[in-house]
Amino acid sequence: MKFAITSRGDQTSNALRMKMKNYLLDFDLVFDEAEPDIVISIGGDGTLLHAFHQYQHRLSETAFVGVHTGHLGFYADWVPSEVEKLVIELARTPFSVVEYPILETIVRHIDGGKESMYLSLNETTIKATEGSLVIDVEIKGQKFETFRGDGLCISTPSGSTAYNKSLGGAIIHPSIEAIQVAEMASINNRVFRTIGSPLILPGHHTLLLRPKEAVDLLVTVDHKTILHKDVKSIQCRVSDEKVRFARYRPFPFWNRVRDSFVGNDNRG
Ligand code: NAP
Ligand code: MN
Repeated sequence: MKFAITSRGDQTSNALRMKMKNYLLDFDLVFDEAEPDIVISIGGDGTLLHAFHQYQHRLSETAFVGVHTGHLGFYADWVPSEVEKLVIELARTPFSVVEYPILETIVRHIDGGKESMYLSLNETTIKATEGSLVIDVEIKGQKFETFRGDGLCISTPSGSTAYNKSLGGAIIHPSIEAIQVAEMASINNRVFRTIGSPLILPGHHTLLLRPKEAVDLLVTVDHKTILHKDVKSIQCRVSDEKVRFARYRPFPFWNRVRDSFVGNDNRG
C-alpha cells in the first residue's frame, strides 16, 4: 500500500509526520506522494482541507485519515497518542471506507470563455467585491428569489459544522446527499425580500446563481478565495464524486458534534 503524509507545518505536526513515516516504512508500506492509496493529514481540519485539494484529481483512488495535533477536529479525529495503533491498522489492509458527499461549483463568464469547475469539501461562498451582492437564485430551473446582502454560503453535509454553522445553518449528517444554502446578512424590508431560512437541496436539485448584471465576484472554495470577473452564472450541486475516509474504528458523527460543540462533560 502506498501512503503520503501532509502536515500543518508546525513543529509538533512535523515531528509526528516523521515518526509515522518511519513506522509505516518499517511495516513495508510504500511512501508515494504522487499516487498514494492513503493520505494521512496531521494538524487540524484546515490541514485536511489542504490535503483534499492536493489530491482532488484522484479522489476515487485516495482515502484520507486525519490526526489532530490541536483540538478535536471533524476531519482530524485521531489523537497523537493513538498513532501506534493507527499505524498497525494501516499496515493491516484492507481498510473500510466511508464516503461523504462533496459540492461541485461551476463558474461561467459573460464572454463565454472557459468555465471554471471547483470541488469543495466544506463550502463555496459567493460575495461581491464591493457593496451588496445582488443575485437571482434559481432552483431546478425556476426563479426562487433575488438575494441582496453580504453573500451566500453553499455547504456540504460535512462542512455544515464549519462556516455554515456560524451563519445559523443546520448540521446535516454526512450520509445525506445534499447541499445547504445559508444567507449572510440578507437585506429584508418592504422592498427586498428573501426566504431568510437556510435551504437544503437534495442531490438532483441544481442551484443556479445569476448576478443581475455582469459583476466581479469573490468565490471562496474551502480555504481559497478566487476573484472571478464578469460572471454570468454560478452553478452548485452535489458532485458525482465523493470524498473517502479510511475508517478503522467507529466515531459517530453526532459524537464528534457533541465533543466539539457541547463538550464531553455533557454525556449525562
Ligand atoms: P481557519 O480560519 O483556521 O478555520 C476556521 C475554523 O473552522 C478552524 O477552527 C477549523 O478547524 C474549523 N473547521 C474547518 N472545517 C471544519 C468543519 N468541517 N467542521 C467544523 N469546523 C471546521 O481556516 P481553515 O482551517 O483554512 O478552514 C477553512 C474553513 O474555515 C472554511 O472552509 C470555512 O468553513 C471556515 N470559515 C469559517 C468562518 C466562520 O465560521 N465565520 C469564516 C470563514 C471561514 P482547525 O483549527 O482544526 O483547522
Ligand atoms: Mn485552520
